[in-house]
Amino acid sequence: MSSRTGVQTEVRWPEAAADYEELRVVTGARSGVTIAIAVHSTVLGPALGGARMWHYESPADGIEDALRLARAMTYKAAAAGLALGGGKGVICAPAPKRPEGELRRAILLDFGDAVASLGGKYVTAEDVGTGSADMAVIAERTSHVVGLPGERGGSGDPSPVTARGVLASLRACLEHRFGDPSLKGVRVCVIGAGHVGSRLARLLANGGAEVTLSDVDPSRRTLAEELGAAWVEPADAILTDCDVLAPCALGGVIDATTVDRLRCEIVCGSTNNVLADDRLAVDLTRRGIFYAPDFIANAGGLINVYAELHHLDRAGVSALVDHIGATIALVLDAAERHGTTPLAEAQSLALERLRGGAAAAA
Ligand code: NAD
Repeated sequence: MSSRTGVQTEVRWPEAAADYEELRVVTGARSGVTIAIAVHSTVLGPALGGARMWHYESPADGIEDALRLARAMTYKAAAAGLALGGGKGVICAPAPKRPEGELRRAILLDFGDAVASLGGKYVTAEDVGTGSADMAVIAERTSHVVGLPGERGGSGDPSPVTARGVLASLRACLEHRFGDPSLKGVRVCVIGAGHVGSRLARLLANGGAEVTLSDVDPSRRTLAEELGAAWVEPADAILTDCDVLAPCALGGVIDATTVDRLRCEIVCGSTNNVLADDRLAVDLTRRGIFYAPDFIANAGGLINVYAELHHLDRAGVSALVDHIGATIALVLDAAERHGTTPLAEAQSLALERLRGGAAAAA
């Protein structure tokens, strides 16, 4: 199952690794940092997943993270209907402070070598702790990298595409809930006015929605003013009385303490792992709240780098973004018919596509 190159680190392979096609752990020859690349599945295509640079308590924690995130990428790509598998790269940064200068370059070149050693099975991209400039350094050692700067032919910032995918999901939810996908007069609370949230808020306001914005950064109020949106303090945002709650900040905002107090009809945002626990999807359904599963709603970021990999034009990207809305509609319908949750249906859909891919390859 696992092959290892470079200087092997002294870590135990987690049991879960047996489900994976490959786990590569190396100590960077230049930097000395631990690098883990997990390839969960290449059944539907090359395993694409970002390079996360983070300071972990131990290399074993970094490896666990790579495994967990790689599996999630498999389901995300499958549910989005992309010809991609799931993988993830983790760089265990030597200290909490962001590595800079020569050390950063050494780390990235080492990571590039690790990616190259997988011969295209794994394709890397930006993730937490890395950006497009870092991808350009990685590209010095491997061609299996996307998310390059625009001037290098890369797809650039993924958040505009992510925001469009969330909007397509939101419209599908509105159609399902109110029989009309129109944004006119729909009350939407966007939590987090960062890269995705600010773009989503703008699209919503342009479409005639009544937007409420929230952010821990008070300077984001200027955007609310510009859009004629209301402002709510972050501590109160999750309980805003609205039609749609659109979390676009940190994960886990819907938890056991908030789920029964939500005052919305729909939850649809870009946040990864918006539910602190998958079982909360049942509570949402019990309360009659429609939930657009995060890994489908926020697939625009993945579509953006997929387009770079396959040299898709704008029309190709738009078709895939529209497909996100259609997929949300599919899982909402299925959940209603089967008496399940949209999350359970999204997971089944991904598994079905994976089985289909495996059968076709056999
Ligand atoms: P970002 O860092 O640009 O924006 C996040 C914003 O949330 C910031 O303005 C921050 O101040 C604010 N924030 C943080 N904590 C908050 C809180 N408790 N209440 C209110 N606001 C808070 O991040 P982003 O790129 O816009 O991503 C947002 C979410 O979407 C993340 O969960 C990310 O993983 C997910 N996501 C993003 C993309 C993408 O294309 N950028 C793709 C897929 C998923």
